[in-house]
Amino acid sequence: MSQVAERLADIQARVASACARVGRPVESVTLIAVSKLKPGALIREAYAAGQRDFGENYAQELRDKATELEDLAGLRWHAIGPLQTNKAKYVARVAQSFHALDRMEVARELSKRRLEAPLPCYVEVNLGGEQSKSGLTPEALGAFVDEARVLPGLRLEGLMALPPPTPDPEQARGHFRRLRELAREHGLSGLSMGTTHDFEQAIEEGATLVRVGTAIFGERD
Ligand SMILES: *Cc1c(COP(=O)(O)O)cnc(C)c1O
Repeated sequence: MSQVAERLADIQARVASACARVGRPVESVTLIAVSKLKPGALIREAYAAGQRDFGENYAQELRDKATELEDLAGLRWHAIGPLQTNKAKYVARVAQSFHALDRMEVARELSKRRLEAPLPCYVEVNLGGEQSKSGLTPEALGAFVDEARVLPGLRLEGLMALPPPTPDPEQARGHFRRLRELAREHGLSGLSMGTTHDFEQAIEEGATLVRVGTAIFGERD
């Protein structure tokens, strides 16, 4: 077994345990293996071990990897990082979903460029009020959702957040709950939340997608 396959099996087991603790079916959570800055060879290892959902942060890297790995049938790419309008076309072409929607300009461009079925999108919320982070404030969410919802090339699935880092993953729980409440208020059911550090807490609080990189592919440079 490759190291990636071993780590993946470990994460899958932890996902299943977290689901079991709160009585959720394991199919209710999608594990996205975040492969940003990691070579195609490692993605092939994960694919060989059965992994199909992969997350990338940078639009050009996503475009290049989609080309390099186009022989991997059924592989699904998820664009999870902030996006510039001029690179929206790469995401619109190859992504299965987009998780960092927080600007109408990008929403319109994605909608215009999307030729296939509408692109499932998650609106990013800045829960910690951090200046440096992307994402909408909870207060700005309603107007944004109303406007983005009617774009024909997008389908609003839910909300996404990357809470401020904390030494103890239990401290992220409050943020995850808040995101769940916000999603419900706005009539959205998808919750993209939880990374290597806190994906188990995120699942216990209702995550439908978790984005795990380091625990599968190792530390990034
Ligand atoms: C890099 C990244 C992840 C994965 O983080 P890990 O700590 O490596 O699991 C998840 N979500 C987003 C938005 C990221 O940029």
